[in-house]
This record gives sequence, C-alpha cells and structure tokens, in this order.
Amino acid sequence: MRIGRVVDLSRRVEPGMQVYPGDPEVRFEPAATLEEEGVNVLGIRMGSHSGTHVDAPYHFIAGGPSVDELDPGLFVGPAAVLDVRGKGPRERITAGDLRPYRARFSGGVIAVVRTGWEEHYGTPLYYDHPFLDPGAARMLIEAGVRTVAIDALSVDETVAEGPHPEGYPVHRIILGAGGVIAENLANLGALEFPDPLLSLLPLRLGEADGAPVRAVALELTPES
Ligand SMILES: [Zn+2]
Repeated sequence: MRIGRVVDLSRRVEPGMQVYPGDPEVRFEPAATLEEEGVNVLGIRMGSHSGTHVDAPYHFIAGGPSVDELDPGLFVGPAAVLDVRGKGPRERITAGDLRPYRARFSGGVIAVVRTGWEEHYGTPLYYDHPFLDPGAARMLIEAGVRTVAIDALSVDETVAEGPHPEGYPVHRIILGAGGVIAENLANLGALEFPDPLLSLLPLRLGEADGAPVRAVALELTPES
C-alpha cells in the first residue's frame, strides 16, 4: 500500500479560540524571541480539551487510565462515518439514527459522528450542537467500538454552567468501557474517499485527562 492523500481534520490552536464553557482560555506567550534571545520559543497555556483533542477515561472515571497510559492503537483505525447532518440545535442522535451504519461497527473501527456542526465553530451556535443519546452510545460500545469522534464540542449536551442535568451519560458509557472520545474534529467533508484511515494520536501528557490531537485521515492506495 501507498499513502495517497493526508487530510487535516484538526482545528488550528490559537489564542482566543472557542473552548468549552469554563475551560481555560488558550494563551501563547513568547518565552524567547529572535530579536531578544536569538531564538524563537513559545510558552503555551491551555486546557487539556482545547481544540481537536481526545478524552481519556480518567476525564470522568476515578482510577481510569490517563492519556499517557492508553494503548496508542486506540487512536488509529478505519473510519466509519455516521452521517447525521440535519439534526437541529440540541437535538438527540439516537440509536435509530445510527442503525443504518450498524454493520460497520466493530472493534478497531473509529466511529465518526458527522453532525455538520463544525460550520458553526467560532459562533454561539457552536455550543448548541446535537449530541448522542445514551442508547446510541451503548449501541456503539456493545458492537465493540472503543473510539468515538465528533465534529462538535462534545458527545454530550454542552451546558453553559453548573452540573450536567443527566451527568454526562455518553462520556460515562464510552470512557467507562475503556474507550476514548475525540471532539472538535473539523473538515469532515474531506473524508469522502473510500476507506479513510484515521490517526487521532494525542500528545503523551502525563496523568492527563485529555490531550490535543493533530487529527488526520490517510488515503491508502494499492502500490502500482
Ligand atoms: Zn473533551
């Protein structure tokens, strides 16, 4: 096999970017500059869930594995793109919505929930994304899926402040099964070639509940 296209599915990480309500703002501060020190070095301050990132079980599960402890194999695999575009603001994505894709769910597959909500990134509407119903999450887990990605801020409903009314059930189902979640994917329209292979490898941040990802899709073509 040969690698054809490599398509970027990541948000640009930059100061002032939209983050989950209450999360730290992204801040860049030069630690050294060419003018002053003869070298450019950037100081970076950000939350573990800024931009395109993954959630480790430790995000919600006491004693669960952190990012640095996870098998990197969880973050690489063939994509099963679940096209649920057409859902409205804060609408649930149900098991019924995912049923047409059921034959493609198995261990090692990365389920990519395509809501289309990425087009609202940077606006207040981005917070009002559709989200997975617990029944949909259970369907994926029961089929052996352990990696779930979405082109929205969260797989659960985003709450502006205070506790989540349902206690983040989808995070708990996926992470509680030893799975991982990737959020804020972008550019999913570029995934329209056959059998994309995804790489969502996070930085190996020690004892971290989540970490940024340079998400890419690879097109594999037969050697000619
Ligand atoms: Zn997250």
